[in-house]
Amino acid sequence: MSRIELNSIRKSYGDTEIIKGVDITIEEGEFAVFVGPSGCGKSTLLRMVAGLESISAGDLILGGQRMNDVPPDKRGIAMVFQSYALYPHMTVAENIGFALSLKKVAKNEIKNRVREVGKILHLEDLLNRKPAELSGGQRQRVAIGRAIVKKPQVILFDEPLSNLDAMLRVQMRAEIQKLHQEFGSTIIYVTHDQVEAMTMAEKIVVLNQGRVAQTGHPISLYKQPQNTFVAEFIGSPKMNLIELRIDQVYENHLELTDAVGSRFTLAGVYNVNTGDIVKLGIRPEHISIAEDAASADLVEPVAIVERLGAETYVHLHPKENAAAQSAPIVLRVEGDCQIRQGDKLGIVFDRQHCLLFDADGYVRKREGKRGKRGRRD
Ligand code: ADP
Repeated sequence: MSRIELNSIRKSYGDTEIIKGVDITIEEGEFAVFVGPSGCGKSTLLRMVAGLESISAGDLILGGQRMNDVPPDKRGIAMVFQSYALYPHMTVAENIGFALSLKKVAKNEIKNRVREVGKILHLEDLLNRKPAELSGGQRQRVAIGRAIVKKPQVILFDEPLSNLDAMLRVQMRAEIQKLHQEFGSTIIYVTHDQVEAMTMAEKIVVLNQGRVAQTGHPISLYKQPQNTFVAEFIGSPKMNLIELRIDQVYENHLELTDAVGSRFTLAGVYNVNTGDIVKLGIRPEHISIAEDAASADLVEPVAIVERLGAETYVHLHPKENAAAQSAPIVLRVEGDCQIRQGDKLGIVFDRQHCLLFDADGYVRKREGKRGKRGRRD
């Protein structure tokens, strides 16, 4: 049993509260990723699960049992850190088997388990080498081997790939996922890298300043962010957020204007009022090039063209006299597009994929039908 529940978890250092009431459930065998910007409390939360930090308030439940006061070595948890922390004087085999020898496991059993782990992690031919004779990726694999050799119910990873180069990171991502499929352990993986979170997680927990901003499947977070923080954090390039004013609320659509008076209509019923300032959220892949200026939602000059081969990202300059809309609008077009810096480009927003966020940054859901009492215009 390795379901993990964090119930109203808090952590303070002196008068400073770092974790401000966190509720998360991770199912048995689930691969959960805690993601968020540096300093949001990811590592602190992970270390509280591991037992390396005390819990100021709330309950940590593992497999139905309250763990707040259980010492780390009695929790059935293994942890892999960013720094590999291998013993330099020991061989790969000795490093992997060390925890078992501390537990006085029989020598033959240790040998078998180390060989098994070595095979899983493609370290069979390196078992007699010392850490100094290994590459970064191989060292990280030894660190993972050291964690899984104990057959833990739960494995915690704290930014394990940050020290590796880009290519190795991609390879190790796949290997850790494969490992999870083979072992079925419950995993919590901490990273600041939203790409790692998107590609590895079954459940993402986005943290912001010690609170959960949103929890869910990667694609649902990408498609239905509940707030502007998640909208901008998940996805690269990030979601465009364009400040608009609600001009009129009609039976089945809204009319909006931007800071320089460009008008937009948006079909659907939203819980908004005339005069509200909102942000229209739209991803780069949901903006297309207008057939002509008359059918464009906006016409803006091109500031930057980023050609990535398969696709191109075009950054449109914000209107010079529109102080409110200072961020560029980014759209994705095909790789071999002929667009150049300085061109004037008319763009159209795919209405199906437009989101509305209120002044506090929370999404305003599209409602079914506007009832008489719900009418707000
Ligand atoms: P993350 O892993 O998301 O980068 P951390 O969990 O390491 O963030 O840190 C969260 C916040 O807690 C940071 O502002 C950090 O400065 C603070 N913090 C971490 N450890 C301590 C400590 N031992 N004493 C005081 N503040 C700490």
